[in-house]
Amino acid sequence: VPLLLTEFLDRAVRLYGDKPAIINEDDTYTYKELNKRVNRLSHGLRALGIQKGDRVAYLAPNTLEMLEGFYGIYQLGAVMVPLNIRLTPEDYLYILNHSESKALFVDTELFHLIEPIKEKLTTVTDIIVHYAEESTDQYRSYDNWSGSFPEDAFDREELSEDDVCSLLYTSGTTGKPKGVMLTHRNNYLHALSTMHHLRVSDRDTLLHVLPMFHVNGWGSPFYYTANGATQVMLRKADPAIILDKVEKHRVSIMHMAPTVLNAVLDKYNSKKPEIEQDVRVVIAGSAPPLAFVSRVEEDLGWEFIQVYGMTESSPLSLASYIRSHHLDEPKEEHYRTKAKAGVEMIGNEVRVVNDEGEEVAWDGTEIGEVVTRSNGVMKGYWKNEEATQAAIRNGWLHTGDMGVVDHKGNIEIVDRKKDIIISGGENISSIEVEGIFYEHPEVIEAAVVAIPHEKWGETPHAIIVPRNGAELTETEMIQFARERLAHYKCPTSVSFLEELPKTASGKIQKVHLRNQFWENRE
Ligand code: ATP
Ligand code: MG
Repeated sequence: VPLLLTEFLDRAVRLYGDKPAIINEDDTYTYKELNKRVNRLSHGLRALGIQKGDRVAYLAPNTLEMLEGFYGIYQLGAVMVPLNIRLTPEDYLYILNHSESKALFVDTELFHLIEPIKEKLTTVTDIIVHYAEESTDQYRSYDNWSGSFPEDAFDREELSEDDVCSLLYTSGTTGKPKGVMLTHRNNYLHALSTMHHLRVSDRDTLLHVLPMFHVNGWGSPFYYTANGATQVMLRKADPAIILDKVEKHRVSIMHMAPTVLNAVLDKYNSKKPEIEQDVRVVIAGSAPPLAFVSRVEEDLGWEFIQVYGMTESSPLSLASYIRSHHLDEPKEEHYRTKAKAGVEMIGNEVRVVNDEGEEVAWDGTEIGEVVTRSNGVMKGYWKNEEATQAAIRNGWLHTGDMGVVDHKGNIEIVDRKKDIIISGGENISSIEVEGIFYEHPEVIEAAVVAIPHEKWGETPHAIIVPRNGAELTETEMIQFARERLAHYKCPTSVSFLEELPKTASGKIQKVHLRNQFWENRE
């Protein structure tokens, strides 16, 4: 029996059929109801002529329609191409044509981004708009269109677990996004190992904070569905709305970008006594500063789990242990462990290797590249065999991230290879220096990038976002770092910005900052 993602919805329908599956704004749908909607969609896609292997693109925030797209498309053996909702029309034109998508599903609020490029789409033959009241000469209304198809069982295509089911474009943090081909087996493995690490069950209520179009949010519908959990949709990652839904739906678990979590923390602290909540765990990718982990666990009372991964690995490879593993640890050590990316998740082999390809010592000092080998590793980059060969060598995916390993096997991500600052021959982790600034009460966000230096080659430059109304100075910031860090790691200059450039999933695009400040230097 092949490992197919459709199995997850089948299981939920059989075991939890009448349970609330999805809460979309004010409406609730059971797993049986979700399944009927999924069948309609599959019948509709077949009527449009979509066949096994064809790409179907989605441009939507986290909604019921987005989620049913997953299963509706997989029943046909077609491939879902989710689009980041914060891109420009030009970006959509590139991805839609590059992926050779045949149909495009768009949320009504986002259609204006497609309108200007509509005539230049080379392969898209149908556009279907969610929440559009009527069909027009430009598109079909989703409800009208799908409502005309039967809700009964769909005669599925025969599939193998090696078939590609998702074509996901990377975040574009370091350059142009690349199309990553993931198979049913890739996503299945990711679902199994993640549901185990997070102890997901039918008692969980997930609030979908991370966008599903991004790989971190992408994988989650699979394992929450498989376990019959309730999934609450969220259009916009706004801290006030998040806290409202947390309370209203008694949310137990959330995945979110650290930047969003930071904003939630702030909001929560300002209205703490009023909120009743049952969140048991919050999961974030990207190395958060130590101080941040303890604030989440102590101020919010939420267990913090860090995960590490990339689109190319379906995505997750590492996760910090859940609380029970830390009961015997002093608090300080517990937080230190959680500030690391964690240990390899079940089904994933992860190693940190030096330039010779040998595993580094587990002593927390030797820096090497993180490599991984598993059933979660992508089939390859779409239409880019050269990049595939460069990324997967001897069966190991080379992540381009640098890490160290402690004596228990916890991996800490030190930096991206490209973001490490090399000053006077020393490696400086931009992440470590940023962490120092996050300890400052008037700092909301910080990024540290290399700028050229006559004597040292490169030197760290800090870009700081002060809390509203705070008056911080360059001298004060440099002094703050010097009291806490080795001298050579301290920024030699500081700029202040109102906000930092970010990807749609909330990642700071240091490449833009690096370019900006590298060039501005006289
Ligand atoms: P692109 O590949 O287009 O430049 P990207 O690498 O940001 O963009 P993703 O696949 O979304 O695209 O992100 C994966 C990257 O995110 C990892 O390679 C790593 O640099 C970073 N990352 C993920 N989890 C963590 C973590 N826990 N700590 C530090 N960095 C992390
Ligand atoms: Mg990447």
